Amino acid sequence: MANKRDYYEVLGVSKNATDEEIKKAYRSLAKKYHPDICKEPDAEEKFKEVNEAYENLSDPQKRQMYDQYGFDGPQANFGGAGQGFGGFEDLGDIFANFFGGGGQQRSRGGVRRGEDIERLMDLQFEEAVLGCKKTINVDVSEQCTACGGTGAYSKSDIQTCSRCQGSGYVTVEQRTIFGMTRSRSVCPKCGGRGQEIKKKCEKCNGKGSVTKNKNIEVSIPAGVDTGLQLRIEGKGGPGELGGEPGDLYIRFRVKPHKVFKRDGDTIILEVPISFSDAVLGTNLAIPTIYGDVSLKIPQGTQSGTKFRLRDKGVQNVRSKRKGDQIVIVNLVTPTNISPEEKKIFESLQNIDTKEKKSPWEKFKSLFKK
Ligand SMILES: [Zn+2]
Ligand SMILES: [Zn+2]
Repeated sequence: MANKRDYYEVLGVSKNATDEEIKKAYRSLAKKYHPDICKEPDAEEKFKEVNEAYENLSDPQKRQMYDQYGFDGPQANFGGAGQGFGGFEDLGDIFANFFGGGGQQRSRGGVRRGEDIERLMDLQFEEAVLGCKKTINVDVSEQCTACGGTGAYSKSDIQTCSRCQGSGYVTVEQRTIFGMTRSRSVCPKCGGRGQEIKKKCEKCNGKGSVTKNKNIEVSIPAGVDTGLQLRIEGKGGPGELGGEPGDLYIRFRVKPHKVFKRDGDTIILEVPISFSDAVLGTNLAIPTIYGDVSLKIPQGTQSGTKFRLRDKGVQNVRSKRKGDQIVIVNLVTPTNISPEEKKIFESLQNIDTKEKKSPWEKFKSLFKK
């Protein structure tokens, strides 16, 4: 217990830190040094150190004792990481939040699956709706060719771990304030892989894989939308000692279009039409994401009328069925009219009053007694 680092120092918080600050610091450090994620050689030790510091500072009684007496408290046992990987359950939650369930798995033999990685990708509206190909730069893991993934310099450099006899785990007996406890923890000598490597592979430094920075082409399927995630298998962080690489998750953020609006698989387009087109009817070439489509505007169309263009919406990313495009026509009242137009409108106004009631007169008649 010589050279033990101060618990506050371990967590990087002040002596006056609140419980919340301590918890926050612990969570981020536990994630950082988690042996399944951290590739630093002393990760396991640091992880234990962090856990021990948290164990003592998160308990008000233990913390008070520590503040008063330091490591040499009268009753408390600040024993070295008795719980081993006691933080596992809590960490499980952390990973579930980060990776949408599943978390990290550590299998026997020190084989470690790589980390899942998330990337944000911005897409133009059309790219999201029609699908596209994108090139992204990622660090991908490849099996080390020098050692064939074993991490050893040669086959004879691989030996069964003398501490755990190959099981990868050791049972630790620990005296605590609650009495003797036994707990199983990952073998500190071999890090759980059950093997000792006498001489590490020089190319991969014993990891069994090498990381290469690569441009990979990704096919984005038609129909993706903001917030949707695409999983690309095996393009996440590197695995260790033959462990599979993690997955790459691409999360999309789609830019809005100038005129098209999207509501799920439906595309909504508002178009302006003139007074005469609304009255007399016409054919309009309506833009859709698949090109122009002819739409018949019937005689006497009201402003705000909706028309449905079947299968001109977004192809659903799962069912592959296409949605519709809804066209909303908006009547535009002319503002700057020529003297000629003015004459025509004036004569329209006169016809209204002479031969039939105008809409306004019909409306007003509702208020007559
Ligand atoms: Zn190697
Ligand atoms: Zn071992």
